[in-house]
Amino acid sequence: IELEHLREEQLQKSQKLESVGRLAGGIAHDFNNMLTAINGYSDLVLKRLRADDPIRSNIVEIKKAGERSAALTRQLLAFSRQSVLQLHLLNLNDIISDTSMMLGRLIGEDLRLRIKLDPELGLIKSDQGQLSQVIINLAVNARDAMPDGGVLSITTANIEISSNFTEHHAEMSAGAYVLLTVNDTGVGIEKEHLENIFEPFFTTKVVGKGTGLGLATVYGIVKQSKGYIFVDSKTNQGTTFSIYLPRAADEVEKTKVENGTNKIHIGTETILIVEDEPMVRALTRQMLEECGYNIIEAANGVEALAVCENLKVDINLVLTDIIMPQMGGRELSEHLARIYTNLPVLFTSGYTDDERLRDYIIEKDDNFIAKPFTFDELSGKVRKFLDSNKPIGDE
Ligand code: ADP
Ligand code: MG
Repeated sequence: IELEHLREEQLQKSQKLESVGRLAGGIAHDFNNMLTAINGYSDLVLKRLRADDPIRSNIVEIKKAGERSAALTRQLLAFSRQSVLQLHLLNLNDIISDTSMMLGRLIGEDLRLRIKLDPELGLIKSDQGQLSQVIINLAVNARDAMPDGGVLSITTANIEISSNFTEHHAEMSAGAYVLLTVNDTGVGIEKEHLENIFEPFFTTKVVGKGTGLGLATVYGIVKQSKGYIFVDSKTNQGTTFSIYLPRAADEVEKTKVENGTNKIHIGTETILIVEDEPMVRALTRQMLEECGYNIIEAANGVEALAVCENLKVDINLVLTDIIMPQMGGRELSEHLARIYTNLPVLFTSGYTDDERLRDYIIEKDDNFIAKPFTFDELSGKVRKFLDSNKPIGDE
């Protein structure tokens, strides 16, 4: 009976988080479209202005504010679990090693950082940037909890979860996991706060210090990676966060060599842009025309198919939004696959709340560009995608 009650409570809590997340995600989605326009047009203006133009610094400030807003929407989307993760096979140890320098600086000299990594650690499928954010958010909280010094320990280990264990952790399923623990010797969390800490905007810190978004973001990222997070804490006895991430089958991933982003990526190919938001469509067109491409546009999937039917020229690439009225990007790509062999389709979106769609993007991996994108991101991605999808013998 006790156990049943516990399970019920855990369920209710996660449902509550779910609905707050959906709300935030909806707002962030609309913001993303507008930020794409704000940042993108700033980019275009900056490209035109001479280095000594007196207006230049004003536009730079607009762009900076736009980028900060974009970072904020990314965070909102992360805890609403609607950001599109760029999933790769990863070794969590590498991410910790990569962030450890920064962590050292972050926590300062009064705290000791102890890192213990399992050299045999299995791989996980997750998003590198988001996982660093998890580690950083937890480390910042640990630092705040140890104003008089202490030890921050980060460990990794392989762990098998048996069905025995899952009886006490209702949502969790048995299997092979990687366990990440982040432990501090700080002030701990009061019992009555324990059940609220993952809620967005819950904070015990003074105004200006805490946003209450740190753990909500962590929670969202962990859930989106199909993982679990638990906290163990007592007042004045420190805090331990345990994060379980499902181990991936040991496939080997091809390493991708990223090109430098400062090159100008030009081309003369024909690109069909499918986007329902006129502001974003016009911007995308202008950006790609600037690169030299020949542009055709459509407002949704149905319109795109009609355009294709009446076309005199060959299309080399379709750049399509994912969520559109009448026909979305995924359905469009399926129709196109039946008409054309090997027509590359590049997807773009600010978010997606469709689990299947997410998996679809993830499988194909490099066929996605997140909104808001910069001029360099868009031109680079399009060029790279066109080059990697060249028909054989066309080199
Ligand atoms: P913020 O750090 O902005 O307050 P978080 O979502 O990161 O927001 O954390 C929410 C709250 O959880 C904190 O205000 C704090 O009360 C508590 N908390 C989180 N991590 C720790 C920790 N390591 N030790 C003590 N309290 C913590
Ligand atoms: Mg925090």
